[in-house]
Amino acid sequence: MSDTSKTISKIEIRGLRKSFGSNEVLKNISLDVAKGGVVALIGPSGSGKSTLLRCINLLVVPDGGSVRVGDTRFAFGDGSKLPDVRTLAKFRATTGMVFQHFNLFPHMTTLQNVMEGPVTVRRMAKADAEKLARAQLAKVGLAEKADQYPATLSGGQKQRVAIARALAMEPDVMLFDEATSALDPELVGEVLSVIQQLASEGMTMVIVTHEIAFAREVADRLIFMRDGVVVEEGPARQVIDNPSEAATRAFLSHFH
Ligand code: ADP
Ligand code: MG
Repeated sequence: MSDTSKTISKIEIRGLRKSFGSNEVLKNISLDVAKGGVVALIGPSGSGKSTLLRCINLLVVPDGGSVRVGDTRFAFGDGSKLPDVRTLAKFRATTGMVFQHFNLFPHMTTLQNVMEGPVTVRRMAKADAEKLARAQLAKVGLAEKADQYPATLSGGQKQRVAIARALAMEPDVMLFDEATSALDPELVGEVLSVIQQLASEGMTMVIVTHEIAFAREVADRLIFMRDGVVVEEGPARQVIDNPSEAATRAFLSHFH
């Protein structure tokens, strides 16, 4: 048998369509993320970035097209049967998602927040879940904050806990939706450096971000979206330094 693991992408999206009422938000989107690849997704507000990310882990159910992560593929539209709730839950657990707002449980300590998914969704024994959770907290540099409550942490620390919580599910891919947009400027760097570390360890990721310099550094590919379509796609440095589309140039000029 030939080894296809290097040539087959980890995430494969084909012909994705999504409307909310008469608002056609995603119009025939296709995208590939290689195993261990990092794709940055940029574009103006309202262009459909969050909806696309949510379609990748099926938090939003597409109207048409297909979504594959690893070996699991779902097709939508044209009489395709919608996946049942259990199948969806299992699939979502393989795709870690980090949002702009961290949504930590306020009544649980940092450690309890990170243990929650492994215990309730993965049915891990508490002792094993705690070991895993402590390891993930250490990974994001917060081992010593295990017993503190979210309210006592800075925004950057809360977002790192949210990343540790996603990692504790041992996902195949990580999806970041403007993970640093709600942070004070001086707290952005500590979160970006955790994302950078994940990239260097070979985590497959899609990152929606307005941090263009960071995208240039950490992403191997970049997608510029506008009005629900992919306007331009290519190697991150090439697209940022030398965009071929006027719309991409116009968007990037806001960041200089
Ligand atoms: P972006 O993340 O690029 O800012 P979004 O994917 O959030 O874009 O939104 C794209 C469009 O879809 C917007 O017009 C937004 O109002 C609409 N939209 C997103 N989510 C919903 C929803 N749950 N219900 C209705 N409209 C939505
Ligand atoms: Mg968004």
